[in-house]
Amino acid sequence: MASPQAITVRPFHYSSTGKPTLFCGQRSLESLAREHGTPLYVYSADQIRQRFHLFQQSATTSRQTLICYAVKANSALAILQLLAAEGAGFDIVSGGELERVRRAAPEALGRVVFSGAGKTTEEIDLGIQAEILAFHVESEDELSLLAARAARLRRPARFSLRVNPDVFAQTHPYISTGLSEHKFGIPIAQARRIYRAAQAHRWLQPHGVSVHIGSQICSAEPFGAAIQRVARLVRQLAADGIVLQSVDAGGGLGIDYESPRAFDPAATVSAYRQAIEQGLGNLPVSLVLEPGRFLVAQAGALLTRVLYVKKNVRRTFVITDAGMNDLIRPALYEAYHEILPVAPRTGRTLPVDVVGPVCESGDFFARNRRMPPVLPGDLVAVLDSGAYGMAQSSNYNTRPRPAEVLVQGREARLIRRRESIADLFAPELLP
Ligand SMILES: *Cc1c(COP(=O)(O)O)cnc(C)c1O
Repeated sequence: MASPQAITVRPFHYSSTGKPTLFCGQRSLESLAREHGTPLYVYSADQIRQRFHLFQQSATTSRQTLICYAVKANSALAILQLLAAEGAGFDIVSGGELERVRRAAPEALGRVVFSGAGKTTEEIDLGIQAEILAFHVESEDELSLLAARAARLRRPARFSLRVNPDVFAQTHPYISTGLSEHKFGIPIAQARRIYRAAQAHRWLQPHGVSVHIGSQICSAEPFGAAIQRVARLVRQLAADGIVLQSVDAGGGLGIDYESPRAFDPAATVSAYRQAIEQGLGNLPVSLVLEPGRFLVAQAGALLTRVLYVKKNVRRTFVITDAGMNDLIRPALYEAYHEILPVAPRTGRTLPVDVVGPVCESGDFFARNRRMPPVLPGDLVAVLDSGAYGMAQSSNYNTRPRPAEVLVQGREARLIRRRESIADLFAPELLP
């Protein structure tokens, strides 16, 4: 039997022979920059598959489990297609994401769950017609609309209430969602009454209950606590004669951006899964998990070229051709991303600010970061950028968005061409 593939934290590593230069798997980043230009997002297909398999193989019981990749983390069609081929379902939050799944993997539409607090009538109709697995309903008004649309279309609509368990997840306040002060979900104390009332609707089918307490959560405990509360609700409902088939534990499992060498992806998934199973106990339900970041963040890097190195009175600025419009996480969440020179230069490390060309002081990738010296023309890689990187990019400052490349073995496939300036003007009208 082949020995199991080593679990890697990142696919990015320096070549072990010759002059050190950074690789993604078996492809040198230098060759990718030469071929496709910069800024460039580079992803490893092998690493994404490996992470997906970690989730698939984390079962501690025979419970039926569906892994629904959270499309918003990185919605590239090629990535959706590769995950669908591994058996993934999808967690979507808009009609646009539904169309992405349809385009990339129409056979997976039946494995789609639809989250989001503000679904429109058009989006609900799209989901009903696509016969998705379940709507995750976030308010009583939304449930009424879903019932009305299902009746109008004469198609059944399966739903799970997304409950808010009032559990504190230790994470950045912008990405915490499971406290009663947040806009997400329905207070868990109201859920029982709403499920009961929904029984009157012929076209509504109660399917399960869902919960999502936030993102970049690095301990298993809050997940276990949330699922315990959900499990109590499922038991109460069973006593009322409402039998739910499925519990959806949401996404949110975090990675270690700051000390990746101490990070153990397999142990992290396993502790997470164990906490959830413990919360469920012997409840006879299937399980849905919605990982986003954990599957794709560390598989990706933003490759960018240094334009200038500028010394002001107090600081040294390394100005790159990528900016906050390409990767907004540092600006938005003060997120830390490790930055590696593709071909390191020798010399003393110095504290620098790595910044983009966008006209905002918030346009930085790192501040006061010790780096080996870099010169104009050097390539650097902003690591752990596979999740919420390209997905949150914009055209701010009328900057075309980067191209994206997917590396598999020795092959690197362009999965999204670089935007042209003409692309940006296309929707605009002049008299
Ligand atoms: C964003 C989101 C996810 C994925 O979160 P990650 O932190 O990327 O794992 C899963 N489910 C829902 C409902 C979400 O909103």
